[in-house]
Amino acid sequence: MSVLVEAKELKKYFETKSGTLHAVDGITCSIEEGKTLGVVGESGCGKSTLGRTVLHLLESTGGQLFFQGKDVTRLDRHGLRELRSKAQMIFQDPYSSLNPRMTVSQLIAEPLKIEGKLSKKEINEKVLELMDTVGLAERLYNTFPHELDGGRRQRIGVAKALAVNPQFIVCDEPVSALDVSIQAQILNLLKDLQEKRNLTYMFITHDLSVVKYISHDIMVMYLGQMVEKGPAKEIFQQTIHPYTKALFSALPQPSIHNRQERIILKGELSSPINPKPGCRFAKRCIYAQEACFVDTPELVEYSPNHMVACHRAREING
Ligand code: SF4
Repeated sequence: MSVLVEAKELKKYFETKSGTLHAVDGITCSIEEGKTLGVVGESGCGKSTLGRTVLHLLESTGGQLFFQGKDVTRLDRHGLRELRSKAQMIFQDPYSSLNPRMTVSQLIAEPLKIEGKLSKKEINEKVLELMDTVGLAERLYNTFPHELDGGRRQRIGVAKALAVNPQFIVCDEPVSALDVSIQAQILNLLKDLQEKRNLTYMFITHDLSVVKYISHDIMVMYLGQMVEKGPAKEIFQQTIHPYTKALFSALPQPSIHNRQERIILKGELSSPINPKPGCRFAKRCIYAQEACFVDTPELVEYSPNHMVACHRAREING
């Protein structure tokens, strides 16, 4: 299995009146072809900024990005166009991301027109094929987004992303705005498409049940940094980092014999603006020691392919 997307020490900073906001601060990760990396963390942890930076919707401040082994950190217009044909995005709110004045067919045709490879007739055929692929009935061809429910609107979002035959899709909270029953339909559609087209996903969400269902690997982010990453099954069996433990303790427990107490985080949230050295979770961590406030924990391998950034990971987990 080959790596499709890779980020090395990727950074995205924003200048604000109070200082430099470290939204994404040195993320190193890779996603294998045909697999899904679930990115989780509280809102404001930088996961959406990471997705946008990986896709060049935001220009990175530092670090490197690779696509199929090729350095794509800095791209000219041609390079960007090439990347757009391989890497796409599905947005959280299908309603606000769709132009309300365009019909379903016009919306799906838009990326094909921009790509400029197909004739009008071919675009029309492709739109019908995409509508069928994502489960939109042909009768909806001339309808407008406001005439459709949230699930169908998100199906348009999926069709738009698929239009240029990408290999990689960043799914940014794609089911968060949908009813639970519809969420399952869209998740199944995404899984199905992955199998049939060997698609690679970066799946950003705050919903752990969703991430469990869709991900092969999971990355946990806290204030712009990765604190834990590993195979999804392993992380759901045993969380290692104190922040991941707290985050996952909110999940409903499958067995009454194996109940874990919910960990409520207390303490002040550190600022991502001009952050000081040390562990960014220290002010909220019940295991914090003096060194945690001074030395930034490195990401180390806790077990094969399972990385954790915590000075006391072994002590805490035995
Ligand atoms: Fe807690 Fe220290 Fe580990 Fe940070 S490094 S998570 S403060 S124990």
